Amino acid sequence: CGAINSAALLLKSANPNHPKGLGNSSDVVGRNYMAHNNSALLAISKKPNLTKFGKTFAVNDYYFGADDFKFPLGHIQMLGKSDPVMYKEDAPAIAPGFALELMANHALDFWMTSEDLPNPENRVTLTKDGQIKLIYKENNLEGHQRLQKKLKWMVEHAGCESHLFPSNLYLGKKIPLAGTAHQCGTIRFGTDPKTSALDIWCRSHEVENLFVVDGSFFPSSSAVNPGLTIIAMALRVGDFIKKEIFANSTSN
Ligand SMILES: Cc1cc2nc3c(=O)[nH]c(=O)nc-3n(C[C@H](O)[C@H](O)[C@H](O)COP(=O)(O)OP(=O)(O)OC[C@H]3O[C@@H](n4cnc5c(N)ncnc54)[C@H](O)[C@@H]3O)c2cc1C
Repeated sequence: CGAINSAALLLKSANPNHPKGLGNSSDVVGRNYMAHNNSALLAISKKPNLTKFGKTFAVNDYYFGADDFKFPLGHIQMLGKSDPVMYKEDAPAIAPGFALELMANHALDFWMTSEDLPNPENRVTLTKDGQIKLIYKENNLEGHQRLQKKLKWMVEHAGCESHLFPSNLYLGKKIPLAGTAHQCGTIRFGTDPKTSALDIWCRSHEVENLFVVDGSFFPSSSAVNPGLTIIAMALRVGDFIKKEIFANSTSN
């Protein structure tokens, strides 16, 4: 169901045998919510950027650290091409449409992802009336802030120094709590049932026929988009279910 809804579903499924939520003796379900430190940055260049294939470039030079910082900074990639409709939300009401159009034509759209760390207090819980409540306090921000500075430096040295606007214009935006796109970690897997809810096959330590195969299993968030890892794990677990469970059930 996705890391937020899967955790909520297990918490809502509490019963006398599973008072803290289904398969949640460890009390980790819902905890350790992560979603990355993400920022979008628009650099406005003098040259038009008419690309139709925005997401074709990434920088991992600072993934594990930098000359001036020994800890990981994160990953930079291009975003899909922005357009005036997207800007309208953040632009002052008086901004004329043609200005936004011009900006879009000259925008280089970047996305930065840095790792946020698992913190048991960052969590999905349920309110008394069963609504989902998400609690998240940002952490591990220094690497991300340094990554933002590196990107600005790179853009300035990559032919974008003559800006369309009088001074360098960067529209940077740290993605807030509502940006749950990279949600993960809330039903972590591991080998110890005391500190994880799932085993290494994403199977509940406690409920034999319960598998959770979405972003919930991540014990750490890394600093790249989660989609491919989730898909790879789904294929791996699918194979396991086919070979180990269906094969055994037909032979019995
Ligand atoms: C705008 C955006 C852009 C993104 N871009 C990228 C990218 O470029 N690369 C990348 O790797 N990742 C990207 N991501 C992240 C990626 O989409 C997610 O990490 C991934 O889809 C999560 O997979 P999942 O299986 O955990 O959950 P989901 O893909 O969210 O699947 C959960 C499914 O469960 C369903 N569901 C929810 N609750 C229930 C319920 N109670 N009962 C039954 N079904 C339920 C939902 O409807 C949904 O279909 C992006 C995300 C967003 C929002």
